[in-house]
Amino acid sequence: MDDCIFCKIAAGQIPSTVVYQDEDVFAFRDLNPQAPEHILFIPRRHLASMAELTPADGPLLASIFTAAKNVAHQLGLEQGYRFVTNVGPHAGQSVFHLHFHLLGGRDMTWPPG
Ligand code: C5P
Repeated sequence: MDDCIFCKIAAGQIPSTVVYQDEDVFAFRDLNPQAPEHILFIPRRHLASMAELTPADGPLLASIFTAAKNVAHQLGLEQGYRFVTNVGPHAGQSVFHLHFHLLGGRDMTWPPG
């Protein structure tokens, strides 16, 4: 999508601190980290949010979750981490390209605010 900032980041048109990438998945450090480790995992293909997923996206989701699990391990997050996605205005979604936040390196509270 031409005017999507995360499409541009995944395409390398806007610089980011890349943590992981493959054919379908791109992961980079959040510019405004909310934890010592805060990484965003996105599909290269533009989807506005989780609300647009279909059963055909099962393999894509498996790739995203597996990449996140491996990165969490590489970062030494053995004490735990959180992996979340915000959907729509009530959840505070601010970038409308599907992304999952990997947060770790500190104690998390529940429920999130
Ligand atoms: O879930 P939500 O849409 O609120 O999250 C968007 C995230 O994208 C924020 O954590 C924000 O800091 C991050 N961001 C970024 N680089 C940008 C724009 C947004 O890391 N250029």
